[in-house]
Amino acid sequence: MQEPLSPQDLLRIDREHIWHPYSAMDSDMPVYPVASAQGVRLTLSDGRELIDGMASWWCAIHGYNHPVMNTALQSQLENMSHVMFGGLTHAPAAELTQRLVDLTPAPLQKVFLSDSGSVSVEVAMKMAIQYWHSRGQSQRQHFLALRSGYHGDTFAAMSVCDPVTGMHALFKDILPQQFFVPQPLSRFGQPCVEEDIAALEQALNQHQKDVAALILEPIVQGAGGMWFYSAEYLQKARELCDKYKVLLIADEIATGFGRTGKLFACEHANISPDIMCVGKSLTGGYMSLAATLTTEEVANTIDKGEPGVFMHGPTFMASPLACTAAQTSIDLLLSSDWQANIARLQQGLETGLAPCREFDNVKEVRVLGAIGVVEMKQPVEMKTITEAFVNAGIWVRPFGKLVYLMPPFVMSDEDLAILTQNLVKVVSAC
Ligand SMILES: *Cc1c(COP(=O)(O)O)cnc(C)c1O
Repeated sequence: MQEPLSPQDLLRIDREHIWHPYSAMDSDMPVYPVASAQGVRLTLSDGRELIDGMASWWCAIHGYNHPVMNTALQSQLENMSHVMFGGLTHAPAAELTQRLVDLTPAPLQKVFLSDSGSVSVEVAMKMAIQYWHSRGQSQRQHFLALRSGYHGDTFAAMSVCDPVTGMHALFKDILPQQFFVPQPLSRFGQPCVEEDIAALEQALNQHQKDVAALILEPIVQGAGGMWFYSAEYLQKARELCDKYKVLLIADEIATGFGRTGKLFACEHANISPDIMCVGKSLTGGYMSLAATLTTEEVANTIDKGEPGVFMHGPTFMASPLACTAAQTSIDLLLSSDWQANIARLQQGLETGLAPCREFDNVKEVRVLGAIGVVEMKQPVEMKTITEAFVNAGIWVRPFGKLVYLMPPFVMSDEDLAILTQNLVKVVSAC
């Protein structure tokens, strides 16, 4: 056995060889070595403990090192960690799939399991294109998307992200061309203003013949701006997709599994999409897994067309370990009083972040479910603010003007109060 890496060596190797998300290799941005994680706390290698406000980007809903998750994964590991999914199947995949079919809106019956959120979006887009191809409309290879959306970093997923923040200029000759409608400005909890709907209807009307689907994040636009929009807009979007005969893809990768106060954000509008993507918290943050669900109609139509099969098949499709993590995470969530718990977190975020409303440097504070957002007037200085958060004993990772929290669902009122108080202190000083 090798000696464990010293923190100095770890940081040296990291600095010399490792890329981080959206980072430069030659960067003076600090990275913090995590030695372990337990409950809602990350322990750094120098012994400092941070209360985690990010749930590892929406994922770790049950916190870290959860005994029930650990036991289920250990037992699956001893049974089998992975087998290929071509020509083989297994109980973890079937059990997870049955849960997904039972929990999501009734028309969603057919499930494609893949390895990450971006891939599940690629799969959704392929499904929509193959559906129209089977129906003799193979010119429908474009998508309609909302500005300020985020759907992932692979090429097709990137093409439906916001065109300005989504790197479209950099990759312009390789990215498929899509059509965009303005971000809905009608807020969550309010009716939808006519302009928002008119813009969507106009785009559908104009591009209908070339568009396979409208893709959107229901209710909460995540990495594209942490924006909560009117449920009536989503309802209208569903109606307009039916009217103009365009499929609706709901990207629930960030919103799924309770984060917004409903199990899926589509439930705020009582709608069912034709295709739905889930990921992120699907496995409680233990493993990378995503799923794309669709209706009998879409699946059967794909089957009847050319080439008669759905054209996708990742190596790690339906990994038994990941399926076990997902199934266990869903059971843990549903066996808790999760609605009351999300309401509790919403209340804690509301109360805890409210002082920020008084600050001159803050534009607004908004909270929905277990998501709390402080929108600043100016972009934050990442290096200094990150250091300040760490020194205050909390883990918060802002982007641009957005300082936001999406804590693990298991966070106690006491820890949430410490998290928000320290966030407020750091924000007031910046
Ligand atoms: C994170 C995210 C994705 C991409 O998922 P990855 O697992 O990072 O590929 C897609 N859509 C939404 C809404 C997301 O939040």
